[in-house]
Amino acid sequence: MIYADHHATTPCDPRVVQTMLPYFSELFANPASLTHPDGRKASSTIEDARIAVARFLGALPEEIVFTAGATESNNIAVNFLKDGDHAITSAIEHKSVLLPLRRLRGVEVTELRPDREGFVDPEQVRAAIKGNTRLVSIEAANGEIGTIQPIAPIGAVCRERGVIFHSDITQAAGKIPLDLANVDLASFSAHKFYGPKGIGGLLVRRGVRVEPLSVGGGQERGIRSGTVNVPGVVGLAAALRLRAAEMGEEAERLTRLRNDLWDSILAEITGVSVHGPRALRLPGNLNVSFERVEAESLLLAMRRFSLSSGSACSSGERGPSPVLSAIGAESAAVTGSIRVGFGKSNVGEHAPMLVEDLRRAVSRLREIASA
Ligand code: PMP
Repeated sequence: MIYADHHATTPCDPRVVQTMLPYFSELFANPASLTHPDGRKASSTIEDARIAVARFLGALPEEIVFTAGATESNNIAVNFLKDGDHAITSAIEHKSVLLPLRRLRGVEVTELRPDREGFVDPEQVRAAIKGNTRLVSIEAANGEIGTIQPIAPIGAVCRERGVIFHSDITQAAGKIPLDLANVDLASFSAHKFYGPKGIGGLLVRRGVRVEPLSVGGGQERGIRSGTVNVPGVVGLAAALRLRAAEMGEEAERLTRLRNDLWDSILAEITGVSVHGPRALRLPGNLNVSFERVEAESLLLAMRRFSLSSGSACSSGERGPSPVLSAIGAESAAVTGSIRVGFGKSNVGEHAPMLVEDLRRAVSRLREIASA
């Protein structure tokens, strides 16, 4: 199968795996064991990794907290809100932002509706800020429809009004350049940029106070207690070093590949709707629906390509896409769209192959439907 579902996850780069290997069985010491040289070495390993991650994100090393991934980071990021506070987010955020926000007792949450292409306007954010607004959380890019949000101007509005700005940068980090100067908190996850699963981080700007989800040994400045996943941290830093060197060229290549796919689908198949913008879109992303064709049947008919319907991170959950629904897509598209996520392993010939497979499957499914 040809993998084209890189928003759900990416393969761990073999070079990253090589860098991680010694940290499982040879250099296995606990970085908190400062009583012996092996422990001190482990500690300096994670501090080196912290410097590399901070440099990549334009942060200070002490502003990086290692976590088990973006779900945990997003939960920590909103956990400081208290009874009586107000928070602003968008209706198309990942569930690991929306659900913890909705669960906080006594916290009022405004879920902004983006425009038809999925953009949140900084002026919309400004208009929603009230006296008790403590947090704005807007993702850097959407994992379903690829929309890249204007996080720098949104952050500027938050700065002006003294509101903390969190951005879930999980789908954007390592794929496109990011300006995080106006961001107070940012969540990221290594498995989305060719690193290992189960490791990620939260950027916490100096002076911003967050509340841990769990307490214990006080690691990671008490924000994330628990023995640090040393191989994971090493893998996270190695993956980002590679992305710093390689993502620019790859983004251009994937944009061309995606646009080829987009143009050919429109040229060769009738009754097609593409969801999300053409510009300011994640390079490998396409989200498309075909009139009178259900996503599930279409995905089953795809014998050569691994694709997804909507967001594959929702543990196999099916049903309407809250993202497509929020941007006002037609109801058939809300349940019937498929997502293509091109990445490193995809090459030029994959676009025409995929168009051909889609064309055949769509016409067969339409024949069946009208029979
Ligand atoms: N945020 C976004 C935008 C995501 O796409 C994902 C993963 N699908 C997450 C958060 C959760 O990341 P993790 O798998 O590291 O918990």
